[in-house]
Amino acid sequence: TTTIGVLALQGDVREHTRALEGAGARVVPVRRRAELEAVDGLVLPGGESTTMDKLLRVFELRDPLCAAIADGLPVYGSCAGMILLADRITGGIEGQQTLGGMDVTVQRNAFGRQVDSFEADLPMQGFEGGPMRAVFIRAPWITEAGPGVEVLARIPERSTAGEGLGEAAGKIVAARSGRLLATAFHPEVTGDWRVHAQFVREVNATRRS
Ligand code: GLN
Repeated sequence: TTTIGVLALQGDVREHTRALEGAGARVVPVRRRAELEAVDGLVLPGGESTTMDKLLRVFELRDPLCAAIADGLPVYGSCAGMILLADRITGGIEGQQTLGGMDVTVQRNAFGRQVDSFEADLPMQGFEGGPMRAVFIRAPWITEAGPGVEVLARIPERSTAGEGLGEAAGKIVAARSGRLLATAFHPEVTGDWRVHAQFVREVNATRRS
C-alpha cells in the first residue's frame, strides 16, 4: 500500500497524521533516513521553520531530503513546511536554510501583528466543493513565483471575521510545482481534508514501484 510520511522533528505532526488518515492514507512518522527512504510521499508540517531547519541537519535528514525532492518525491508543506519548500526566503533568521525545490520566494511571518492569526474562506484552484476554510497562524506568503509554479490560492480582501486584510489581499498562499504542493495555511486543523485527499491521490498516481 501507499505510505505517506510526516516529518516528525517538530510541529503539528499529529494533526497532519489525522488528516492524512482521514483521507485514507497509511501514515508513518519520519525522523530517520531509512524511514524517509520507505515512504511514497512526505508532509512537512506546520510549526517553526527555523527549528525544523536546525533539526533536519542534526538528524542528518537535510541532504537525503533535498536529494529525494530532486528525485521527484511528492511533498506537501503547510506553513513552516511551505517555507522549507521555497527556493528563497526573506525574513528568515541568520543562517536559516530551506530545502528548496519550489521556484518561489517566501516572506516569513508576513502578515504582521494586526493580522497575526486569522481565518479566511479561500476559493482554491482545482478544488471542488466551495471555498476552503483557511487558518493562518504567523503565516508566510509567496512574494514571487517562477513560471513553472501554478498559483492555487490568493488572500481575499477580508477575513471571515470581516477584518480588512490590507496589503495582504492578493498575496499567493497556495501553490504547486511538479510534485510539490504548498499552503501558507493549515488545512490539517479544519476537519476539511480536501487538500490532504488531493495529495494522497497524487502520491498514489506517482508511486514508486
Ligand atoms: N512562523 C513560522 C515559521 O516561520 C510558521 C508558522 C506556522 O507553521 N504556523 O516557521
